[in-house]
Amino acid sequence: MTANTRFPAFALWHAVMVAALTITGTARAADPLPIFDAHLHYNDEATAVYPVADVLRLFRENGVVAILATSRPNDGSRALVAAARADPGAAPRVVPFIRPYRNHADRQTWFNDPEIFALIESELRRGVGYRGIGEFHVFGRDADTPWVKRIVALAVERDLWLHAHCDDAALEILFAHDPRVKIVWAHTGFSTPPATISRYFARYPNLVGELSYRYDVTENGRLAPAWRELFVAHPDRFVIGSDTWVNERWAQYREIMAYYRGWLVQLPSDVATRIASGNGERLFAATGSR
Ligand SMILES: [Zn+2]
Repeated sequence: MTANTRFPAFALWHAVMVAALTITGTARAADPLPIFDAHLHYNDEATAVYPVADVLRLFRENGVVAILATSRPNDGSRALVAAARADPGAAPRVVPFIRPYRNHADRQTWFNDPEIFALIESELRRGVGYRGIGEFHVFGRDADTPWVKRIVALAVERDLWLHAHCDDAALEILFAHDPRVKIVWAHTGFSTPPATISRYFARYPNLVGELSYRYDVTENGRLAPAWRELFVAHPDRFVIGSDTWVNERWAQYREIMAYYRGWLVQLPSDVATRIASGNGERLFAATGSR
């Protein structure tokens, strides 16, 4: 499968971007918008195929200056943290989150499993500088368990973010557990319409939308009007991410980042800068753990 069939709009937005660069001159071409990749997995199946040195090169080549790193199991995130500590000049800033999965099966059961709560507590004791818990998957009433409630309480108590791949119902339950909790909403609900997202932003001040897989942001390469309106109205509420959940996504990393750049360049530059990296830098500021 070619890049253009995986990303049907690739050719068109590439043309748009080239035109935009031509119009705005060489400044942006020479100095591409820095990106904070706020949805990244470095899972065990990836580490064998893409060694640390290779992924660090991929980040540099794509202007990725910071990453929100998670992995199943958590060894991959710890390897990225160690690499950044060993050679900060060659690595992006790494913001590690605890993934509550030891293996594939945990994805189906973590929300009702006391061993997962113990896993989170033991990861927190490692001194890795974890800033959150996730990405985890939870849908509907599955979010309404005593263990999820405890994880929400722990996040509030320790000032940790949650990175939740969840539907609208589970999102509302997570905030009902404690409205103070801070949530990165993976894929911004995947299919939740812009008007509903806008209502959630008003209702939940600690909600941030992450935009991987939201290919409805563009229509034939152009920013969809409803999304443009949402970005301009809420420039501080969005982050972008690669979501390298399978190795195919690592293979597509350049195209994924190029897709973001293709629509970011259509926004007012201050809005684009915040969504590309400014919001991530502000929300997941360095703490000295690095
Ligand atoms: Zn993910």
